[in-house]
Amino acid sequence: MSRACGSCTLCCRLFAVPEVLKPRDVWCRHCVIGHGCGIYPDWPKVCNDFFCLWRDERLTKVLTDDLRPDRCGTVMVAAGGGTAICAVCKPDQPFAWRDNDKVFAFLVGAAAAGTSVSVRSGKVYFVVGSRGYLEVPTDWVTGDIAGDGEFKINIPDTVRMKLGIGRHAQQHPGLPTTATANVVH
Ligand code: SF4
Ligand code: SF4
Repeated sequence: MSRACGSCTLCCRLFAVPEVLKPRDVWCRHCVIGHGCGIYPDWPKVCNDFFCLWRDERLTKVLTDDLRPDRCGTVMVAAGGGTAICAVCKPDQPFAWRDNDKVFAFLVGAAAAGTSVSVRSGKVYFVVGSRGYLEVPTDWVTGDIAGDGEFKINIPDTVRMKLGIGRHAQQHPGLPTTATANVVH
């Protein structure tokens, strides 16, 4: 079982879907905004398979109703076989991931647990660690979280250590879980 999308249709705006010639960050021409897919059940397989983290009923207590993507402005998805979380924000609310304390706490908490956390915030990317976050230089990024190609961020080990990303996160207990983490330059 999973939670129902209800009137949320935000992924139909943010993600690229080449099968219906849809670029990222614009509404799909088939979307009935606030209702659902206008070509269901003939929608592409990629749409049928798409599942944001908010829909995962195991996370209901953490990702509460107010964090439904259309309400909080951020769609979060699992990636890398569950080892990573990617977040994408509405173009008109590019810092929703950071401005919403609960979303931010969730992302920092996931990073503290060793999950790789990446965010697309408008036109720029951030990586989030247990001890801070960093805007990523464009030459570290391959692809696009919400695009149709492979997405990857190559993070130097020194930056991983500084931010508390990946295996290093396990070595630092007493991790921040609220919006108190600082940008690390
Ligand atoms: S973003 Fe999540 S909750 Fe919203 S429509 Fe897409 S899958 Fe459903
Ligand atoms: S085809 Fe349907 S489900 Fe897929 S992006 Fe368009 S409106 Fe959304």
